[in-house]
Amino acid sequence: MPPPTAAASAREILTGLHEIMAGRGTAQPKLDKVVDLVAEKMRSEVCSIYLLRDNKLELFATHGLRKEAVHVTRLKLGEGLVGTIAAEGRILNLAEAAGHHEFVYRPETGEERFHSFAGVPIIYRETPIGVLSVQHSEPRRYADVEIEALQTVAMVLSELIAGARLVDGARRGRLRSAGPLRLMGLKLVAGMAKGQAVFHEPRVIVEHTVAEDIEAERDRVYGAFRKMREQIDNLAREAEFGAAGEHEEIIETYRMFAYDEGWSRRINEAIDSGLTAEAAIERVQQRTRARMREIDDPLLAERMHDLEDLSNRLLRIVSGRMGTAAQTGLTHDTVLIARNLGPAELLEYDRRRLKAVVLEEGSLTSHMVIVARAMGVPVIGRLPGVRHIVEEGDSVLVDGDNGSVMIRPSKALLTGFEQRMALSKKKRAQFDAVRALPAKTTDGVQISVMMNAGLAEDAASLDLTGADGIGLFRTEFQFLVSATMPGRESQLRLYKRVLDAAGDKPVVFRTLDIGGDKALPYLTNDAEEAENPSMGWRALRLSLDRSTLMKAQARALIQAAAERKLRVMFPMVSEPWEYDQARTLFEAQVQWAEHGNRPVPSRIEFGAMLEVPSLAEQLDLLLPRVDFLSIGTNDLTQFLFAADRGDPRLAERYDWLSPSILRFLKRVLDAARAAKKPVRICGEMSGRPLECMALIGLGAENFSITPAAVGPIKAMVRSLDAAAIRARMEQWLAKPPNDLRKALSDWARRHKVAV
Ligand code: PEP
Ligand code: MG
Repeated sequence: MPPPTAAASAREILTGLHEIMAGRGTAQPKLDKVVDLVAEKMRSEVCSIYLLRDNKLELFATHGLRKEAVHVTRLKLGEGLVGTIAAEGRILNLAEAAGHHEFVYRPETGEERFHSFAGVPIIYRETPIGVLSVQHSEPRRYADVEIEALQTVAMVLSELIAGARLVDGARRGRLRSAGPLRLMGLKLVAGMAKGQAVFHEPRVIVEHTVAEDIEAERDRVYGAFRKMREQIDNLAREAEFGAAGEHEEIIETYRMFAYDEGWSRRINEAIDSGLTAEAAIERVQQRTRARMREIDDPLLAERMHDLEDLSNRLLRIVSGRMGTAAQTGLTHDTVLIARNLGPAELLEYDRRRLKAVVLEEGSLTSHMVIVARAMGVPVIGRLPGVRHIVEEGDSVLVDGDNGSVMIRPSKALLTGFEQRMALSKKKRAQFDAVRALPAKTTDGVQISVMMNAGLAEDAASLDLTGADGIGLFRTEFQFLVSATMPGRESQLRLYKRVLDAAGDKPVVFRTLDIGGDKALPYLTNDAEEAENPSMGWRALRLSLDRSTLMKAQARALIQAAAERKLRVMFPMVSEPWEYDQARTLFEAQVQWAEHGNRPVPSRIEFGAMLEVPSLAEQLDLLLPRVDFLSIGTNDLTQFLFAADRGDPRLAERYDWLSPSILRFLKRVLDAARAAKKPVRICGEMSGRPLECMALIGLGAENFSITPAAVGPIKAMVRSLDAAAIRARMEQWLAKPPNDLRKALSDWARRHKVAV
């Protein structure tokens, strides 16, 4: 028996199906007609529909099996061929059904005469709700086009079934076959939170499956492919310039799929069979998913996620539902799920509703994580595939303190979590009490604890945090959150607001640190960029080349700090001449202000950030020229270890408490002390109590940390004997133990230091 010609016969089925569905009457007679139609058009002896009711797959309609079996034959999920298809969302295509290890025989159906069997899941909103199968007495495998026709029918049927509320849960809008699940990821930002899962890039639910005008559907899909390819090409271009948030490897895979002729052809064939563009994309994706399930290869599974992404992107384009969840707005407490996020994307979310972020990638010192930390939003990263495990709307518990994510928790789990959350709140309240107290060690060493900030809101909360000032104001954040380049006036307004909010407390403004993972869409690089953008044209390098940008910022800062003290520092100074040049440019703007009779700051202090190891070799030349030094351990450690701070694979590879880093820092601290120049450490490292304790052990006394860490750091400082840890560190640095982190942590415990 020859298989029917591909699209033509599928279209015939679909037309018939459309007529049946549009007709009057209840669901049961319609299902009876559907099985007759499919059997006839596919020239199959049997066609049956099983639907999930009371958690069992019940035979609802059949052509060819005994009618007495209808509503009598019931299989558990996972039982027999039908149960396996529904439980695993798989397709089975067997020449000899009885030969399959899952086969179970049900005498009431009279199916012993039939040898071949093919079945596809009926899926509603990504969950299998039934099975559509065909059987034949002749042992043969069904052709691909026949399987696709079955999938098409299953897809259209799902609308009828859900509409008629024939299955479990369809009333609620969706079914849940999955239970609670606990995943362990990488703690990126501590804290506990609960909320409902929201996808940063929302999934599209296909509502209409049968096309009215095939030509029009084909045009829509053609247009969507063109747009998607354009987007991917742009992403790839941005990646070359170091502006893309996404990994290059992923973009390359995207590109490969986006231009895959086979994929677009299959979608077009599905449209030819009578499906809408959305349904066609979804059906092809279902087929690919089912195929992939049969191949147990983690590498392929990874690629499958990329294709899912792209398929979802195509769906979003074709249905006109672009934009991220931030644009749609959050309506409830939200746990945001994403592959990765940029700092600007994160800042678009409503702070009141965004409770936590769960990422497939992510690393400890990426700027998105720094922003989240400043916003007080817990983040868990490194959970590959999480977007395919969680469903939109699932309840999610995030424990950023131990790195766990609980999906669809049971009542008992939720209660336990809420209790721990209350406890953690209590602990935070204890820190709140410490925040207002001075940061003095038990032997009387005064430690300066400032905070990092980047937005006006952060500055407004300075008093609440208990910090001594703002030790690092990341001016590029204002640029990151706006769609166009902020002009001098708006910069001026922000800086003034920050200084006003800080009052007598000092604020150290860092000039723009753009580039690396802080790319601006409106500022593109026109030259070839290095492989690793954080080692490329960024920060001071970019500012010196685009001096107009720096001049505007300098003027805004000078005006904002009129008649007050202004503290400015330059990021990523690699050689002293860069600092000199930046300072000269800045001082020229003071003259510009004076010429225009504008008030100028009472005094300007200039500092350099030590983030590039090369600068450490010229400290003797640099230190006499600066008013202060600031160490950015985030960049410094990535350069010391040659380990990209944004690469999730390296996120846990090197330890901040490695002797290499600590010895290096000690050298810098000693040199600054000898030159009598203040030095402050402002990377994420110093916001961690154990790390900060080690830094005090090196002689550091000034820190700028994330606001939420002020309490814990002060608590640590107030329980520490500075002289004791200094003496201990000296010995350890001379002769490092195998595991310095463990040694420090044991020491802290023995000496009752609150780390
Ligand atoms: C650093 O590199 O440590 C630093 C404080 O700057 P940023 O994290 O903004 O690069
Ligand atoms: Mg830096």
